[in-house]
Amino acid sequence: MQRVLVIDKNKTPLMPCHPARARELLKAGKAAVFRRFLFTIILEEREGGETQPVALKIDHGSSTTGLTLVADFQSGKRVIWAAELTHRGPAIRDALLSRRQIRRARRQRQTRYRAARFNNRRRSAGWLPPSLKSRLDNIWTWGMRLARACPITSLSQELVRFDTQLMQNAEISGIEYQQGELQGYEVREYLLEKWGRQCAYCGVKDLPLEVEHIIPKTRGGSHRVTNLSLACHDCNKKKSTQTAAEFGHPEVQAKAKQPLKDAAAVNATRWALLERLKLTGLTVEIGTGGRTKFNRFGQGYPKAHWIDAARVGESGGAVKLSVTHLPLLIKATGRQRRQMTTPDKYGFPHTKPKISSIAYGFKTGDLVKAIVPAGKHVGTHVGRVAIRKRPSFALKGFDVHPKYLKALHRSDGYSY
Ligand SMILES: [Zn+2]
Repeated sequence: MQRVLVIDKNKTPLMPCHPARARELLKAGKAAVFRRFLFTIILEEREGGETQPVALKIDHGSSTTGLTLVADFQSGKRVIWAAELTHRGPAIRDALLSRRQIRRARRQRQTRYRAARFNNRRRSAGWLPPSLKSRLDNIWTWGMRLARACPITSLSQELVRFDTQLMQNAEISGIEYQQGELQGYEVREYLLEKWGRQCAYCGVKDLPLEVEHIIPKTRGGSHRVTNLSLACHDCNKKKSTQTAAEFGHPEVQAKAKQPLKDAAAVNATRWALLERLKLTGLTVEIGTGGRTKFNRFGQGYPKAHWIDAARVGESGGAVKLSVTHLPLLIKATGRQRRQMTTPDKYGFPHTKPKISSIAYGFKTGDLVKAIVPAGKHVGTHVGRVAIRKRPSFALKGFDVHPKYLKALHRSDGYSY
């Protein structure tokens, strides 16, 4: 059950409460809704309160990030709140690409002499491509929003796909596949990375891959990672008791002996996120992808970003959660467009330059409630408003005067 975030009258975060309790408090007039998304209530009277340790766990994915709050109750660790945050990624790249193309075309036009500009632009240290930076900023924004409404005491993040300590020089130190269950998961992640997530023999992708012995066990092959590759079920079956060379793939044998170049499997954003999380001063636990999978399969939960987030790190081994828990779905949408007018098919401006998107205290994208007293659209409507020819704003396909509008949630660059 998604708990409701609670703050006291001084806006100090308290322990999130059960939604039934929140309803009671709201009905009795002891609390008021403080914010609609990241649903938070504010207690009118109370100051301070008892809190338990709460961990914010993050599973940073390329398109979606899982954010989960796990409380450490006396009865054990339990998920109390979860969200899945969808990033903008490709939209940012496309927008920048189109801006670049338009600028280039404009500057190439032989309209007047332009002196060449001195090339003194340099990227600062820690620069990230804008699409990656946006992901990082999204996570940071939501981490801060949560921290303002919930007494977070620690952070967990999945940093790398497999344990570098465990797997460093895996080929040399002779890590074996069946050394304990957890290590099995780390080895699998390692092999996936090494063999590019595809069958080593036929190159098929997106099929379940099996860990396969290059020199079969029956022919004296070992469990060491230098003797392991990944194969699809068909290839594994066809290969049977042949060695890779006999099966017609001597290159597999050669590749297995080469150490994995970038053993850290570094993901720039994950490291940058770690650096930022450290700035909070809270303890940051780091986990591996192998550990997350191990924790997930150990308890038979389905694959979901918020569940993976709950499973991050060593502390993710014993977290109770309900599979029917509905996480808050957040989508990063951005705020505005830089384009001033829309062009027609010949590239000429076809609309008027855009006007301000703020008017009468409303902004395009605000979630509003409209109570229309009379006319064709009489009744109550809830939706996102768009600022149009003033003073009449578009809401759900018709126009409403701002005097009938009440803001429920201000536009903040995300949709829910
Ligand atoms: Zn295959």
